[in-house]
Order: sequence, then structure tokens, then C-alpha cells
Amino acid sequence: MLNEVVQTAINKQINHEFYSSYLYLAISAHFEYINLPGFAHWMHIQSKEETFHATKLFNYVNDRGGRVELEAIGKPATDFGSPLEAFEAALEHEQGVTKMIGELYALAVKENDYPSQVELQWFVQEQVEEEKTARTIIDQLKMIGDHGSALMILDRELAARQETVPVQ
Ligand code: MG
Repeated sequence: MLNEVVQTAINKQINHEFYSSYLYLAISAHFEYINLPGFAHWMHIQSKEETFHATKLFNYVNDRGGRVELEAIGKPATDFGSPLEAFEAALEHEQGVTKMIGELYALAVKENDYPSQVELQWFVQEQVEEEKTARTIIDQLKMIGDHGSALMILDRELAARQETVPVQ
């Protein structure tokens, strides 16, 4: 059985992962609105990845015989400004997620919950990747500055992002 304290914390994380999915979907809509379809596509896939993260924890709680409790998902913003501002918001969000995952892992250690530690290790690694990806795109957007033609090239590149969520 899943320890009650860890269960409550994982349920909170499930909600936050769904919020991440909602946030990236909102950023995707923003990019559609400002006519950057490649950026919009990239964010849409990112949104699906976050739903996968939420579902991975959802399945984990169920597998441990725990009780999933779904809470209301917060409302994200509508306007995310320039592509650089939008990706800076994404990076800041991911840094917050990394902190949450770290706290969750520390709780699993404190509670001697070994299966949760193993489950959360995947998320610890995933956060390294999430932050790296956002940082790379931020750096490229800084190089681009206000060169519209370079921005169009990056838009084409981001349009090529493949679906990465495994079949569940
Ligand atoms: Mg996530």
C-alpha cells in the first residue's frame, strides 16, 4: 500500500502535471494566434508529454493500491508575449517543476518508500531534459533577436518535432 503522506504529495503532483499540460496547450494557442505554426506544434507535443507525465503518476498510484484524487486544474494565461518571453516562461515553469519533483523524492526517502523513489527517478532525469531543451531554444531565440527570417527558420525546425509519448 502507498503511504498516505506520499499519496497526497503524488496526487498534488498529478494535478501539477495536468496544469503543465494545460499551460503548454495555452502557449500553443498563443503561437497559433501570432502565426507561428511550428512553435505551436512544438508546444502542442509538449502538452501531450505533460499529460503522459500525469498519467504515469496516475497509473503508479493505482498500481500501488492507492487512491487517486483529481483536483481542479488552474487557469493558465492567454498572452505569452514574444517567442523568447514564452520560452522563458516555460523554463521558469520547468525549474519550479524540478523543485517539486526534488521535494517529492526527498519525501519518499524520508518515508522509506523505495518504489516511489524508483518511480520518481524517471522524473528527476526527465527534468534535466526539459530544462535543457527550453534553455537551448531560449539561446537560439536570443541569437535570432529581431531577425524575422531566422525566426521563420526556427519555426520550420520546431514544426518537425515528432510525437514522443509511448503507447500506453
Ligand atoms: Mg512534467
